[in-house]
Amino acid sequence: MVKPQLTIQLSDAHRIPQVGLGVWQASDEEARAAVCVALEEGYRHVDTASIYGNEKGVGGGIRDAGIARERVFLTTKIWNDAHGYDAATAALDESLKRLKVEYIDLLLIHWPAPSQNNFVDTWLALIDAQRNSKARSIGVSNFNEDHLQRLVDETGVAPVLNQIELHPLMQQEALRKANESMGIATQSWSPLGQGSALSNPVILDIAEKHGRTAAQIIVRWHIEIGLIAIPKSITPSRIRENFNVFDFTLDKSDLAAVAALDSAKRLGPDPSTFA
Ligand code: NAD
Repeated sequence: MVKPQLTIQLSDAHRIPQVGLGVWQASDEEARAAVCVALEEGYRHVDTASIYGNEKGVGGGIRDAGIARERVFLTTKIWNDAHGYDAATAALDESLKRLKVEYIDLLLIHWPAPSQNNFVDTWLALIDAQRNSKARSIGVSNFNEDHLQRLVDETGVAPVLNQIELHPLMQQEALRKANESMGIATQSWSPLGQGSALSNPVILDIAEKHGRTAAQIIVRWHIEIGLIAIPKSITPSRIRENFNVFDFTLDKSDLAAVAALDSAKRLGPDPSTFA
């Protein structure tokens, strides 16, 4: 039986499950096993990238789980060394081959890499990939407001989603608002702050109040403020724990307490300089 899960409708009318499995820093074999466990547990959304080096494992995990391809929402990303129309098109074909799938549900430009000044041409490749049915939805990752605006101004096509670093210690309120004003869904990478937010005393207090774990409180927080979260784990018990979040809610005081934790400190690189 598939557990109930919340989904968000993207601006192109496709729906994305609000909780997915992240697999950064997992080997092919680890990703394969983790994806299989996650799908058996009820996840229907997996986030990988060509740079993670585990697309083969992710595709294998989907096949191992025996879940029909069209029931899994699969994301991959075009890396910084494949910017430009031709390179991005070729990189997508390589990802499809490694994953052994005919289409990607959500194809993202991984970083804007503004010093290359080539993300608009890369975006044109994604627009064509969608026209050619190789990608159902197209979006970006780590784009600031000015990068998003450039895509819209120069191509007339807005991404459906922007995947950005977002967790209780880095809440990105301004960029969330900018995304929303352009009809772009916000997806949270490192939603648990790479584990660093799990020992926060405010989170631990809320966890105790609800009889939940810190990870469950944080995943639930992303859901309740309208985000899409992709917590990473390769440990079966944690994969289960992070998905067991659909039978409780946070109250106003919980949400206010988490909102006050924002320290606007990045764990990852700055998108305006990372190349
Ligand atoms: P995360 O915030 O998901 O935290 C993962 C860490 O928390 C791991 O060390 C894991 O062992 C631990 N953890 C997970 N569940 C736990 C639990 N229930 N209890 C205790 N510890 C637990 O960090 P992440 O992996 O950086 O981010 C998640 C996903 O986001 C990645 O796997 C990847 O798919 C994506 N991502 C995207 C970008 C990007 O540039 N687009 C960058 C980083 C990550």
